Amino acid sequence: MKNKGSLIVISGFSGVGKGTVVKRLISQYGYDLSISATTRSPREGEENGREYFFMSRSEFENLIDYGGFIEWTQYVENYYGTPKKYVEQSLNEGKNIILEIEVMGAMKIKEQYPDALLIFIAAPSISSLKARLAGRGTENEATIVKRLKKATEEASDMDKYDYIVVNDDLDKCVEVVNSVIVSYGCRQANNVDFINGIRDELNCI
Ligand code: ADP
Ligand code: 5GP
Repeated sequence: MKNKGSLIVISGFSGVGKGTVVKRLISQYGYDLSISATTRSPREGEENGREYFFMSRSEFENLIDYGGFIEWTQYVENYYGTPKKYVEQSLNEGKNIILEIEVMGAMKIKEQYPDALLIFIAAPSISSLKARLAGRGTENEATIVKRLKKATEEASDMDKYDYIVVNDDLDKCVEVVNSVIVSYGCRQANNVDFINGIRDELNCI
């Protein structure tokens, strides 16, 4: 019998490298990712339906009214949300699914799915965070300042996460995050159906 899948929430300050880490988790370990919807403009190299479903504010608001999101939020002037359909379908199929979302969204997920695993990716220092954010070259100075201010707010919720993983060396960080997810899957509470299956088989001997 298949266990129900788990939600794996990955958050971190803007520019910390969580997008990079998540891409590696997908390519190296084959994880499934929930593609969020957003009203922000695509960055160079981003494709609709791969990094995000890019939509207008009115399209996004229609989806909110329709009940199409399990959570949504406004982050530095844009909407971001997790579409409900794919997540629920994946969980029912017993798949683990990664949500790469900010802190408010993560808290909403924890309320609805108390078994969700919450991982916060941190930078080794705030100076390295600033350097990464600027080095990415995708936001102007004003937006970078807003994103750093947002990080100050987000820091107050870091202690609500199950695990904090520092992204200093990228390879190491990816390996540690994968280990956390694997260990989480081995928890007794995540294997109730497996245990019952073994007991049933033994009872038939
Ligand atoms: P986020 O998704 O958290 O906003 P990104 O994944 O876009 O961040 O990474 C921000 C920048 O930092 C990118 O230019 C990326 O290549 C770089 N980066 C990611 N991880 C590391 C790391 N461990 N060391 C140095 N630079 C990194
Ligand atoms: P970015 O514009 O850098 O891609 O994302 C900005 C922030 O929005 C990041 O912290 C990212 O994790 C978060 N984010 C992306 N998708 C979602 C989502 O569906 N819901 C929520 N709450 N946050 C999201």
